[in-house]
This record gives sequence, C-alpha cells and structure tokens, in this order.
Amino acid sequence: MYEELKPPSRLLMGPGPSNVHPRVLKAMATPLVGHLDPYFLEVLERTSDLLRMVFDTKNEFTIAISGTGSAGMEACLCSITEPGDEIIVGVKGTFGERMVDIVRRLGGKPIIVEQEPGKIIEPDQIKRALDESNAKAVAIVHAETSTGVLQPLDGIGDMVRKHGALFIVDTVTSLGGAPVNVDERKIDICYSGTQKCLNCPPGLSPLTISERAWTIIEERKTPITSWYLDVTMLKRYWGKERWYHHTAPVSMIYALYEALRIIEEEGLESRFEKHKVTGEAVRESMKALGLDLFAQEGYETPMLTSVKIPDGIDDRTFRKTLLTKHNLEIAGGLDVLKGKIWRIGHMGYGTQPAFVLPTLTAIEKTLRDLGRDIEPGTAASAALQVLEKL
Ligand SMILES: *Cc1c(COP(=O)(O)O)cnc(C)c1O
Repeated sequence: MYEELKPPSRLLMGPGPSNVHPRVLKAMATPLVGHLDPYFLEVLERTSDLLRMVFDTKNEFTIAISGTGSAGMEACLCSITEPGDEIIVGVKGTFGERMVDIVRRLGGKPIIVEQEPGKIIEPDQIKRALDESNAKAVAIVHAETSTGVLQPLDGIGDMVRKHGALFIVDTVTSLGGAPVNVDERKIDICYSGTQKCLNCPPGLSPLTISERAWTIIEERKTPITSWYLDVTMLKRYWGKERWYHHTAPVSMIYALYEALRIIEEEGLESRFEKHKVTGEAVRESMKALGLDLFAQEGYETPMLTSVKIPDGIDDRTFRKTLLTKHNLEIAGGLDVLKGKIWRIGHMGYGTQPAFVLPTLTAIEKTLRDLGRDIEPGTAASAALQVLEKL
C-alpha cells in the first residue's frame, strides 16, 4: 500500500516553482478534451493572444513549448545553430553557461562574453564581440536567476540587427514580472517558463519568434537536429493547419491560459510596479537585518533578491530550519555561489504581503535563534515602510 499524496503547504519563496494561484489549480482540474478538439484549439488561440500581451509582441508565432524553460532554451538554440555557426552568448551566471553548453552540443561555436556573477554584461562587450566575429545570433539572459541580476536590454537589439544577427533572450524569470518588450527591443526569439512569475506549475515554455528569425530558420542548410523541439513542425500544429505533431499537455495549457488571464485582469503595468516595490522592500528588509546584498546595485531583479550568507551561518542548517519550522522555501546559490548566497523569490502571486512579510519574519527569527542580535520586528517593519508605496 502506498499512501495518498499529502504534500505540505509550503510558502515557495525561492527562484521557482513559485506558489500556484488557486484559480490555476482549479483550471487544471477541469475536464480534459482532445488536443484537436475545437474547444481546445480555441483555448490555444486565446493562449497565444495572451502570450503576445505579456511578451509585448505582434509575432504570429507565439506558442508554448511542451517542456520546462530549458526546453525553450534548447528549442531556440537548436532552431538557429548549425554546425560551425558562431553564437555570441552572454555569461554572467548558471543560465548563460547552460546556453553555452547547448550551443557546443549542437556543433556551434559559442563566443563567450563574460562577467563575474552578480554583475551585468556591458553593451560594449557585446558590441566588441559582434565586431570581431561573424555571429549568427546573440543570446543573453534577461533575469539571471542564479545571481539576481537584471540585464539591461535596451540598445542591444539595434546593434545585433546592424550586424545581421539574431537577438535571442531568455525571459524565464522576468516574463510577467518585469517589462520584456519583445518588439520594441527588437528581440527575435524569446522564451520563458511557467513556474516563475506566471505562477503555474513547471511544464511549459512560452516562446515567440519574429518573422526575421523565421527567414533565417527557413534558410537552414541542415535539418533542425531535435525532432521534438523542431519549431518548423510546431508551427504547423499551432498555426492554421493544426497538424498533429505531439499531444499537447492539455491541463498545462489550461493552467497557462488561466494564469495569463489573471495577469491580464491585473494589468501588466500594475504587476510590474508590484514586483518593483516588493523587490525594494525585500532589499531594505535584508539591509535592516544587517545582511549584504549580492547583485550589482541598481540592477537587481525585481522578482528575486540575492543576499550574501553572513559569516558564521551554515547555509544548509539555516534553510532546513526555514523549511521545517516555518514551511518556507528559499534557495541557496548554484555552482560557484553555493554556500555563498541565498535567493529569495517574490514572484507574481508571491508578491502579496501575506507571503512576503512572514518570509522576512521567519528569516529574521532564524537569524536570531542562531545568535544574531536583532530587534524583533525589524525585517517586517523595514519592508512595510516600502510597501506603503503600493
Ligand atoms: C529557471 C530558469 C531556466 C530553466 O528553466 P527550467 O524550467 O528549470 O528548465 C532557464 N533560464 C532561467 C533564467 C531560469 O531562471
């Protein structure tokens, strides 16, 4: 006998998955229809419309890949990269490194533009790489979730276009939490994920591709190496033809549709403001606790705060206490940042004070239990002063 699932009710305040909106869970429990059912095809069409709204694009091809954010990353890179192609990749953390790995596996030649974790990539670095190479594309992460840094994107699209290259942007963590502006920023290919600021379970990767990128994809000399992630075939399912490629994950599409409806009701601008103010509140709260922030000042991601773990505090013990005593999940650092930083997410549904304030208070309490001298109420009080702006 195996027992029924009884997962604990956690506050998910890490880099994702974030807590799922109850309306999204409800949508997932509605009856399944066939993936070619006229009702479902209508839902797909509306989902594309809503995705165009959050991506801020008119791109006809705006879909959701069946797979998590990394599947979106792989779909983009494999649709563009042919053996020997030079692809400029901005690396300032784990997710930039993942792009490099994928480009190499595809037989492409990654041209790495690097910054130390916690810093942004300077547009000049990209300009130099473009001048010195024959790059087919520039790929960069908008919100680098491993460090909590928001990469400025303005102006890069123009540079990339001047060189006849394509601009690929990872907005897995930023979509729905900060302006992405696909068309205005001349982004040719942009992908995301559902479990961060969209507050869905993990499982889909929203993706949009410009007409300009399609021209390049259609001129490929070799077929796209992945069958499942071949966007030319996915285009035939999501387009008018409705050709069967693979069975769309119906309940996940329902979830995404409902999540996007919530964002539409709330309004993108109001949502961005909520993330911005909440980010500031969490940073002020951490400073009031005497912790140092990790991300370059002025470039912090509004949906994720990275802080340095103070000397004398053991990362594992600290986070285990949060989980077992407070039912709260925050994350540690990845790779070189393991044991060095904490990452506190405040994404979408998770920006509400009812989630943020207990999170900050639990962090404060745990620090105090470990011997730090902190006046009770410090963390929440610092945050509340900023949250008044909302
Ligand atoms: C989470 C994340 C990914 C990977 O998404 P998965 O859903 O874990 O596959 C890629 N890029 C960024 C910036 C992310 O934050």
